[in-house]
Amino acid sequence: MLKVTKFGGSSMADAGQYQKVRDILMADKERRVVVVSAAGKRNSQDHKITDLLYLCHAHTQYGVACDPVFEMITSRYLEIRDTLGITLDLETDFAELKKRLDAKEVSQDEMASRGEYYSARLMAAYLGFEFIDASEWVFFNIDGTVDTEKSYAALASKAKGKKVVTPGFYGVMPDGSIRTFSRGGSDITGSLAAAALDADVYENWTDVSGILMADPRIVENPHPISEITYEELREMAYAGANVLHEGAIFPVRKKNIPLNIRNTNAPQDPGTMIRKSFETDVDPNRIITGIAGKKDYSIITIFKRGLTNQVGILRRILSVLEKHGVSVEFLPNGMDNVSLAIPTAKLAPHLYAILAEIQQEINPDNITVHDQIAIVTAVGHQMKFRPGVSGKIFAALGQAGINIRMINQGPDELNIFFGVENKDFAEAIRVLYNSFIK
Ligand code: ASP
Repeated sequence: MLKVTKFGGSSMADAGQYQKVRDILMADKERRVVVVSAAGKRNSQDHKITDLLYLCHAHTQYGVACDPVFEMITSRYLEIRDTLGITLDLETDFAELKKRLDAKEVSQDEMASRGEYYSARLMAAYLGFEFIDASEWVFFNIDGTVDTEKSYAALASKAKGKKVVTPGFYGVMPDGSIRTFSRGGSDITGSLAAAALDADVYENWTDVSGILMADPRIVENPHPISEITYEELREMAYAGANVLHEGAIFPVRKKNIPLNIRNTNAPQDPGTMIRKSFETDVDPNRIITGIAGKKDYSIITIFKRGLTNQVGILRRILSVLEKHGVSVEFLPNGMDNVSLAIPTAKLAPHLYAILAEIQQEINPDNITVHDQIAIVTAVGHQMKFRPGVSGKIFAALGQAGINIRMINQGPDELNIFFGVENKDFAEAIRVLYNSFIK
């Protein structure tokens, strides 16, 4: 049995958190492989080390000294080391990095990666585990995708039967340079490590006791989700729930490895278990697994008589957007019209050009644009074959006086989404939560 564990920034923020991580690892011998993030915030006023690393790099690029920022970074690590009484020479490393930084020899990605690198070296020394650098096993292809075969083989041979700590967030390019994933990418490293080692579970340790059924800033004390499928989780993330890095799901899903989200500050909580499917549902009456949503969409609605009967017309509309590099997130349609829902920030710079080109391309009867739209999505595999779910949503929102601007269901019946005005966003989520989940 092998459990691959990943500890996020808040679990690595200070010496007290390191102790919690050690207790968690010592409580279970199967937790032999550890992936760590850079030190995160200790409180809401604090800075993430990764942010400081980017900031420091930007300073030097513009020829501005970054010594005070550099000092903030190094002192965080030295403080953790000294508080825990770890013997590890970091000073030589820091001096070398600073020298190369001043000489503009350090790329932005390499600089950003140092947060995870120092975290992992410190944690390995603290636990007495072996340190394996991510640059020894996370291999990127030239196009920025991960060469999983090569990476898995490398980690499998290096980590087999050992207790190891490895940094998250980065790997190495074919030319030997360091490359990072996008922000939050240590989740991906953990997933890759679990897949490489055919782990029995990938434990992702963070600062909440699992994924919540709705945003706690909107719904008071939402229930945690105890079980969710990979597909549902993807829908939740796409719909705006801030959970794992999207790229973290693929490696474990492919190998059918369950992913368990846990809380470093409350290790007794079971957290959320994510699998391909569950034999029995926790609660067969819980039709909706979770609710998520995003504000600030624009909806372009194009009216043309008989629109859906005309061969190729959707392609022609979409090709206009493609030309401008704008992707459409939702596309509900009727007999004589189609709506394109697009985040306003992405659409705005191209809006007038797009409208003019659609006009020219298909000569519609009318085009309207509505801004300030929020999309709310209810996700749940139990909605499948269950009649009346959308009816219930309509009724609940209607009773609350919330006007639905559009509604659609994914063909796999895994989600129902609807558009409301931005101003009704929070209330729509609350109404839905209270009528389905309470
Ligand atoms: N430290 C990186 C970030 O802040 C990666 C991670 O924590 O997953 O984005």
